[in-house]
Amino acid sequence: MVITENKLMTNKLRNTRNMGFIAHIDAGKTSVSECVLFYTGRTHKAGNIDDGNTVLDWMVQEKERGVTIVSAATSCQWNGFDINIIDTPGHVDFTAEVERSLRVLDGAIVVLDSVAGVQPQSETVWRQANKYNVPRMVFINKMDKIGADFDKATQTLIDRLSANPIPIQIPIGTEDKFEGIIDLVEQKAIYYKIGDEIGHIDKTTDIPEDLKAKAEEYRSNLIEKVAENDEEFLDIIFSGEEFENEKLKNAIRRVTISNTIIPVMCGTALKRKAIQPMLDAIGDYLPSPLDVPSVSGKEYRGESNQIRKADDNEPFSALAFKTVSDPYIGRLIYFRVYSGSINAGAGVLNTITGKKERMGRIVKMHAADREEIKSVSAGDIAAAVGLKDTSTGHTICDENQPIILEKITFPEPVVSVSVEPKLQSEKDKLQEALLKMAEEDPTFIVSYNDETAQTLISGMGEFHLEIIVDRMKRELNVECNTGKPQVAYRETITSNSHAEGKFIRQSGGRGQYGHCVLEVEPRKSGEGFEFVDSIKGGSIPREYIPAVRKGIIEGLTSGNLLGYPVVDIKVNLIDGSFHDVDSSEVAFTIAGSMAVKDAIKKGNPIALEPIMKIEVTTPGDFLGEVIGDLNRRRGQVSETTSITDTQIIKASVPLGESFGYANTLRSLTQGRASFSMEFERYDELPKSILKDKMENQGTKND
Ligand code: GDP
Repeated sequence: MVITENKLMTNKLRNTRNMGFIAHIDAGKTSVSECVLFYTGRTHKAGNIDDGNTVLDWMVQEKERGVTIVSAATSCQWNGFDINIIDTPGHVDFTAEVERSLRVLDGAIVVLDSVAGVQPQSETVWRQANKYNVPRMVFINKMDKIGADFDKATQTLIDRLSANPIPIQIPIGTEDKFEGIIDLVEQKAIYYKIGDEIGHIDKTTDIPEDLKAKAEEYRSNLIEKVAENDEEFLDIIFSGEEFENEKLKNAIRRVTISNTIIPVMCGTALKRKAIQPMLDAIGDYLPSPLDVPSVSGKEYRGESNQIRKADDNEPFSALAFKTVSDPYIGRLIYFRVYSGSINAGAGVLNTITGKKERMGRIVKMHAADREEIKSVSAGDIAAAVGLKDTSTGHTICDENQPIILEKITFPEPVVSVSVEPKLQSEKDKLQEALLKMAEEDPTFIVSYNDETAQTLISGMGEFHLEIIVDRMKRELNVECNTGKPQVAYRETITSNSHAEGKFIRQSGGRGQYGHCVLEVEPRKSGEGFEFVDSIKGGSIPREYIPAVRKGIIEGLTSGNLLGYPVVDIKVNLIDGSFHDVDSSEVAFTIAGSMAVKDAIKKGNPIALEPIMKIEVTTPGDFLGEVIGDLNRRRGQVSETTSITDTQIIKASVPLGESFGYANTLRSLTQGRASFSMEFERYDELPKSILKDKMENQGTKND
């Protein structure tokens, strides 16, 4: 009995695919997703679905309601596989969205335009997918478009991403003659009828004579590249025996999952051709939750690392990855179960807030309907209604075996603006709207400045904040005025230094005594703060070390140049002393803060400014003006490429110089250029500018 249950579970997991479609805006992600739901939706519809009109009617309704696209995760079935499609955004300004979706999906299909190939923004997402080691396949869409070129689009994956793309299909015809594909694994031709809106497979045949030589060449290449990366398959090839296609298929699956090759397919979502073979490939080649490494986390209220296997018999653990306010059922928390299972209504512990909560109802989103389910288990994705205090990035788990799963890391905001309601009477309404936005987006932060009595909103770029202000107006009916954007500078040190902090008070009553000696050294950009305790022989008693650390962290919240947080620094506590009676936590906290402030002063401090990566696409005529303007903004152009008459300029620009860029670019190019901008790194703020700012601050403070 137990064996059967285990087997059932393993089969269920083996047939689960958590995947997403990744694409540059306009490559056709929405159209491809709609096609997928169109074909898989058949299983959810009663009646004669093969009747073209019924299906098309259903598509129109779907489109009007827009449900398919707004779901953070949509579930469907194909060939016995349960596919959870996780939504990924097409715009790089929303890095947080990309990061969180990549964190919970096991594999992805990158949709490319058959004419443009890899477009600038796809590069960013590709690198993020590399960071999470997400196995990928590529679907070259729009094979019906004028200028469609399968080989050229594939080549852009090598040229622009240094990827290892290997076609597992080739197209039969292109543009208006695109009729279908040749499956290089099965060695079959799959034809569609030109003009057939539904995208029925017309016929499957042997490879036609005129494409035999080409298909043979591509198949040999496929076999060779797979063998190069898979020993098991290499042995088969070396033995010289005939092999079944199934063996090749299994080997392609292994090299896809190990991320050594990227299988390439093609089709057209608009004309609904070659979508079914792509769906087959999701099952055949993308990983199941059993194929990816087990998730690791930290012991709750402890330091040790813990592993949770994708197994129903493990303790329950899940990661909340998106919070959505649904107009019909209220607050929905999308989560991925990494281990164990949970029933609707059961209690869970949120190890980030430390609160116990009740799951309430559990739902799965399908294309056309919402399904309430009784329980959800390892490897699956669903949404919960009723988790009041749980937000994106939190772990929920079995309270008897608690764990903290690795958090989704989001970049710190780099720009802030002050906001106030257009109508004073709408103060509370604005506050509510801001909190709602902040809850849905972890890179959007709302704070209140006591000194100026202003509400500040902070985010990843000027555009990010503009979108939020616009969404509040359109979706929540609150309008606000915004102040000038402010840059979030940072400070750091550039050389090692040594300092001590002594806090001693001995006037009447009980005294105070705290004393510590620190060594500090700079860390690489982005490495953050590290504290090392090297106290030996009890020169500072154990119980006061956390107090020293706390003081150091407090001391780092404002640097001595412009008063911004000090980052990327290692602090080593090497010595100190104490007093039997007078020492206290407070005294050591103050000593820690004094010591680190002095050490920073002696460590050749510099200020850091956020640098944005920018990509401008402009008609060639305006190249000179655009570059001239970037130079005036202290920008550095790293590359210009031209595609016919269009120029793509890659550059980096300090955030502080980038404000208002959209307007300038519009007027420089008569509105014919477009750009994308995202945070890239922190760099030293030039000394002359720092000096001006310090003088200005000085006058302001006087
Ligand atoms: P998204 O921004 O990536 O979600 O792209 P959409 O699915 O919204 O498609 C962008 C545009 O490309 C729309 O005008 C679509 O009609 C068009 N499109 C999508 N797929 C195809 C295709 O296979 N062929 C052609 N010719 N156009 C397509």
